[in-house]
Amino acid sequence: MTVKVASDWLNSCSGCEISIVDMGERLLDVLKVAQFVHLPALMDHKYFGQRGDGKHIDIPEADVGILSGGLRNKEHVEVAEAFRDKCKIIIALGTCATHGGIPTLANAYTNQEIFKRYYSTETTDRPEAFPDQGLPPLLEYCQALDEKIAVDIYLPGCPPHPDHVFAALVALVEGRQPKLPEKSVCDTCPTRREGKGSVKQIRRFLQAPEYGGAGEPLDRMRCLLEQGFLCMGPVTRAGCGGDGIVPRCVSARVPCRGCYGPVQPKGNQRLDMLNALASNGIAIESLPESASMLRFSGAHGRLKPAGAMK
Ligand code: SF4
Ligand code: SF4
Ligand code: SF4
Repeated sequence: MTVKVASDWLNSCSGCEISIVDMGERLLDVLKVAQFVHLPALMDHKYFGQRGDGKHIDIPEADVGILSGGLRNKEHVEVAEAFRDKCKIIIALGTCATHGGIPTLANAYTNQEIFKRYYSTETTDRPEAFPDQGLPPLLEYCQALDEKIAVDIYLPGCPPHPDHVFAALVALVEGRQPKLPEKSVCDTCPTRREGKGSVKQIRRFLQAPEYGGAGEPLDRMRCLLEQGFLCMGPVTRAGCGGDGIVPRCVSARVPCRGCYGPVQPKGNQRLDMLNALASNGIAIESLPESASMLRFSGAHGRLKPAGAMK
């Protein structure tokens, strides 16, 4: 049996598509059982017919539709709806699709504020200079996929690990639900934990963590949060290490920034992290700000312009 797969990128940087390609030689195994019928990153299949003379977005029928990126303009919504119409199963690929991702940092501003900042200068105060001719109109905010269409499978990660993209496709070909990690990054982190940290203040990322040098095994280094670094591991879903599971940033001695989104799909990384800091005895007042805790998950109304938060 051949499974037809359609894939597209919406408000996406294409890193998620790189993850599909990064399956490497396993892609050859996938291609034995899956036929890609639409994948702009790798093949030339156009929205309005190959000669561009169609009137509506034309996505071929498929068993599985994979969409990366969130929704920032009306064309994204139109493509997402066409996928929902034509595909039996929809996979939200990557944290932009599942939780809005990095682009939702701009949700802290209105479109007008963004235009004014980027299309006006001290000498040219012309927010109306925003080039809107022939472009799809922007939505008010960047949204996750499931704010407009029903999603069947969530594959978070910025980008998702190719092991999990492969596992999800194999499971679907075999008629199973993919089983993905449901723990937190901390649950998969081998660093040494001693309980409540002796550090009471958040330390700047620019300071180096304490560890015994490049050759020291990770399980000898003390937990970065206990060292006072804002490590988002407690509130971030595991999986970035793929089947090897060890969190990628922490294995490079860098705090987790939260790129897999919340542990529970509807979790709020900012609220959960403020709780985690309090329970580690770290003063919330020592944070310069907290909005960036939502840098990967600002959709679903989590991050809004300051006026709208009141
Ligand atoms: S989740 Fe990350 S890699 Fe994927 S489209 Fe968004 S920014 Fe790019
Ligand atoms: S807070 Fe960071 S360093 Fe500490 S256990 Fe969690 S992921 Fe590892
Ligand atoms: S450690 Fe955190 S930020 Fe780094 S890749 Fe993993 S989930 Fe993403």
